[in-house]
Amino acid sequence: MPPEHSDAEALISAAIRKIVHIDMDAFYASVEQRDDPTLRGRPVVVAPRGPRSVVCAASYEARRFGIRSAMPALVAERLCPQAAFLPPDFPRYQAVSRAVRAIFVRHTNQIEPLSLDEAYLDVTENKRCLPTATRVAQTIRAEIHEELHLTASAGVAPNKFLAKIASDWKKPDGLFVIQPHQVDSFLVSLPVDRIPGVGRVTEARMAGLGIRTAGDLRTMDLALMERHFGRYGHRLHQLSRGIDLQPVVADRASKSISAEDTFATDIPLAETRPLLCALAARVWAASRQNARLARTIVLKLKTKEFHTLTRSLTPDAMPASLDAFQSAALSLYERIDLGPSQLYRLVGVGLSNFQADNAAGLFGPEAADPAEVLHAPNALPSTLTT
Ligand SMILES: [Mg+2]
Repeated sequence: MPPEHSDAEALISAAIRKIVHIDMDAFYASVEQRDDPTLRGRPVVVAPRGPRSVVCAASYEARRFGIRSAMPALVAERLCPQAAFLPPDFPRYQAVSRAVRAIFVRHTNQIEPLSLDEAYLDVTENKRCLPTATRVAQTIRAEIHEELHLTASAGVAPNKFLAKIASDWKKPDGLFVIQPHQVDSFLVSLPVDRIPGVGRVTEARMAGLGIRTAGDLRTMDLALMERHFGRYGHRLHQLSRGIDLQPVVADRASKSISAEDTFATDIPLAETRPLLCALAARVWAASRQNARLARTIVLKLKTKEFHTLTRSLTPDAMPASLDAFQSAALSLYERIDLGPSQLYRLVGVGLSNFQADNAAGLFGPEAADPAEVLHAPNALPSTLTT
């Protein structure tokens, strides 16, 4: 973000923001159930075919059997053999995603998509002049339901951080509003695992420090937070006070797309592979929306000791299928040489170095790289917000 404003100005303008976070419920599975009435009311699992397949989405009926996103499809089959297993149809999901966006555009142009089924909207000013952000969120949910026959959950809050938590609060088909004067009381009792970025591992570290809620976090001084959580400690210090100055960034051209997630417990390298394949499926789907082509595949790992490793590959020809992309990402494991006893807390995969179809450099030197990070569910396998 360019430093156009002083901190004080940023605080003042952030203080009056009205942010809505919209998250479609079990999106891919819901689209399948909508389009095939025989699937309604049944457990539906969207997963590519193949031995390395992982679940992309599970209907709420399937979740009752313990099926979750990013779980190996073979495990899902064992949990619920009678479920309908369907390969993902990304072009169809993208078309629905565009239709959802067309509804958003009636209300605001300040739209920041996070993935096919999730977006932040800044409705501080809204095109229909509805009196409150809550009314905007209610209207959007109703329009999605009436026109697209799908349900979306919405969160309304003064910033992105709280709006995202709020959209998950009453899921599915829910609306939750955090008014500015409610922020403090909401945060005091908020369990830390609801904070984006806090998975089971970080949660356990916090528990060791006596931190269970955002209210507990607030009593910790910044230096201690930074000592235990590095740069994220500073962010946690702010979030626990309800401070998130990040604006909604509309229509940014991604220079990279990535997805990462933290494991419930630290695990050896080989065991990170199923999650890597699941994350690759998300990145692949998102990259299909991008008019430009990525040239570089990136693998990211974080060790138990919080050291980050990245390995990248820029092949002559980019993979033409998800399977080829997964294989290329897995091939980067050969360049990780920390030995078999090393444990890992996080794995991520990304596509970067997007190139315009026209001559590179036409528009001069590139500005700072905006990056799109697909937020995978934390603390797998217990939570899922797809
Ligand atoms: Mg969703």
